[in-house]
Amino acid sequence: MENLMEKIISLSKRRGFVFPTSEIYGGFSGFYDFGPLGVLLKENIKKEWRKAVVFSHDEIVEIDSAIIQNPKTWKASGHLDGFVVEIRECQKCHRRFRVDHLEDDKCPVCQGNLGQPSFFNEMFETYVGAKKDSSAIAYLRPETAQGIFLNFKNVLNTFPKELPFGIAQIGKAFRNEVSPENFIFRIREFEQMELEYFVEPKKSEEYHQKWIEERFKWYLDIGLKKENLKIFEVPKEDLAHYSKRTVEIHYNYPFLKNFGELEGMANRTDFDLKTHSKFSKVDLSLFEPKSRKRFFPYIIEPSVGIERIFLALLLDAYSEEELNSGEKRVVLKFLPKMAPIKLAVFPLLRNKPALVEKAREVYSLLKDNFLVAWDDNDNIGKRYRRQDEIGTPWCVTIDFETLENGTVTLRDRDTTKQTRHLPQEIIKIVKEKIK
Ligand code: ATP
Repeated sequence: MENLMEKIISLSKRRGFVFPTSEIYGGFSGFYDFGPLGVLLKENIKKEWRKAVVFSHDEIVEIDSAIIQNPKTWKASGHLDGFVVEIRECQKCHRRFRVDHLEDDKCPVCQGNLGQPSFFNEMFETYVGAKKDSSAIAYLRPETAQGIFLNFKNVLNTFPKELPFGIAQIGKAFRNEVSPENFIFRIREFEQMELEYFVEPKKSEEYHQKWIEERFKWYLDIGLKKENLKIFEVPKEDLAHYSKRTVEIHYNYPFLKNFGELEGMANRTDFDLKTHSKFSKVDLSLFEPKSRKRFFPYIIEPSVGIERIFLALLLDAYSEEELNSGEKRVVLKFLPKMAPIKLAVFPLLRNKPALVEKAREVYSLLKDNFLVAWDDNDNIGKRYRRQDEIGTPWCVTIDFETLENGTVTLRDRDTTKQTRHLPQEIIKIVKEKIK
């Protein structure tokens, strides 16, 4: 579809999914705010991830660690020395670019000459405490994973588990990206969902493969189109220093020439537990009673940014259709379980007190069960259009027949067909469909 990204960005702002941050001060590059519907969509993504990654596995628990950790963490993890990108600055406009994103030797914006390459660490620095000198420097975490490794012993002491077991975490991560771009695809503050799955070293490849398959299937389960997803094997020479093998799930983002990274799944080996044992002098190895051996487990890590899923969901859901009446409508075809709002309730006419009163009653009944919107502005057609545009799967209208026999109309977003039901039946139908 032509200009799909422009349409998504404009709809996101118009309807309250995503706003550019600090807009009244001219925005702030690489940062976005999430509006009322954006918060709901994000929550649904997290809910589905927790369901699949945490709650359906007896051997996986979740934690929530601090964003600012002891700065020694980042020395041990390799981030202080290695979380760098190679950049070149344009001599004319002084913009800076990542070397791996450059296509030729001239500035992509003003065609000026590029200077010599240099290195730039993408961790955000801050100061902790009342003294602002080098001893007070700390970092905003660039990934949630390290908070899990640091709590490895704590979790095992409170939730003793045998291998394999996992610790999951959802939380903000910060990267001072040299060139944030493509709406919420590459931003400086984002939210990660990570799982660190600890396994016996000799079984790491088997479990890695299992998670690759499980994670790929999850994207189909939340409604992404199979043809827009692809498995990508990261070439050996591009692997991170801790990784034995990394496989990524790529999505067909329209602004990229090729597909782009949605989720990374690395076999991190025993690098993390070993390095933190060495730097902290706390032994993070594990004694396994079965083999009577002490060793460092290997770690399989599926890691994804919520905003990249958010964007993929919007892109896949967006459609424009012509109705029989000749009218055009924009529809976000989210799966019902992903839709921010499940139902909208309308009185057919707002100036008929009997209809409004009955509609309020139905609204309150449905609201006890689902996230429901109320709308009595404009005519019914306009109300449907508004709900279609934000992906509400069903609209319920209270009309004159409701006053006679209690039934209301249930209008399906995708087919636009209407059927009549008692409100209690609607609860059953919707519950079944959003499972
Ligand atoms: P990229 O190559 O796109 O910069 P990465 O390989 O640095 O990503 P990882 O370090 O593997 O990313 O991070 C895990 C996940 O976190 C990514 O798969 C992506 O979903 C998300 N992510 C990473 N950086 C960003 C960012 N700047 N904005 C939004 N999401 C991000």
